[in-house]
Amino acid sequence: MMSGFSRSSAAGLLAAASVLTLAACGSGSAETSATDGKPQVVAAFYPLQWLSEQVGGSDVQVSVLTSPGVEPHDVELGIQQVTALRDAALTVYIKGIQPAVDDAVNADKSFDAATAVATLPAGEHAEEEGEEAHGHEEVSYDPHLWLDPARLATVATKLGERLGAADPAHAQAYKDRAAKTATTLGALDQEIAKGLTTCKSKTLVTAHEAFGYLADRYKLKQVGITLDPETEPSPARLSEVAKLARAEGVSTIFTETLVNPKVAEVLANEVGAKTAVLDPLESKPSGDYLSAMRDNLKTLQTALGCMA
Ligand SMILES: [Zn+2]
Repeated sequence: MMSGFSRSSAAGLLAAASVLTLAACGSGSAETSATDGKPQVVAAFYPLQWLSEQVGGSDVQVSVLTSPGVEPHDVELGIQQVTALRDAALTVYIKGIQPAVDDAVNADKSFDAATAVATLPAGEHAEEEGEEAHGHEEVSYDPHLWLDPARLATVATKLGERLGAADPAHAQAYKDRAAKTATTLGALDQEIAKGLTTCKSKTLVTAHEAFGYLADRYKLKQVGITLDPETEPSPARLSEVAKLARAEGVSTIFTETLVNPKVAEVLANEVGAKTAVLDPLESKPSGDYLSAMRDNLKTLQTALGCMA
């Protein structure tokens, strides 16, 4: 802690002494606490970390609040993380995923990616079951927007603008990298759209309702067993999903890397389906966002019987 503070003030002194002209844009938003003076960007969880690294490039230092392998919804923040978050030039998060992060962010130095795109309403069976919305938050929309690459491209563009505002000296570089990232995501979107054009089935039965945006973008229908990965489904919900899966001839029930597959396995057994892992990318995959989405595409093509 001590060294963190002294590095921070040394960097501040250096900046103040060497570049007086910076004072002109000095609302404080570009203050940095990095050892090498780079703005600190704190990403709430993996897809936002990936995006921040793509858009921020070598002009920022990106850290992530949710460690790999940890389910992000119920993350709790330690003092160090709250401090990092408070000192960051920009925190990138999605309101409604992690209540602890929602509570800790500084409104002036944070970017809520949900504000950049058209959101979808929260899961339909929330009220019937009396469950609270995802992550105990009272947001009325589905927060899993990163699973639509087209929406994530829009977020990339906006993130480039926000980084440019926080660090005006590198605004053009942020803008350029944001444009490049948006192009890459646009190409991924086209690839997935093409890959899912001709499929026998359009119904995704998933462990938790993380894939609403993917379903929306590629005209699939998501049936989530639960809204929240921490919630056990009620027997009523399970039999409802089983009935639906049989009626729609579902061949595969999707499980997730970080969610116990037991419920999905029981359901698959009951309706005579297989299980396969579909990654909601809530934690770092073995590759990166792009490769994990391509793996998801392959999984979907097999499960839904799509013509390549
Ligand atoms: Zn989720």
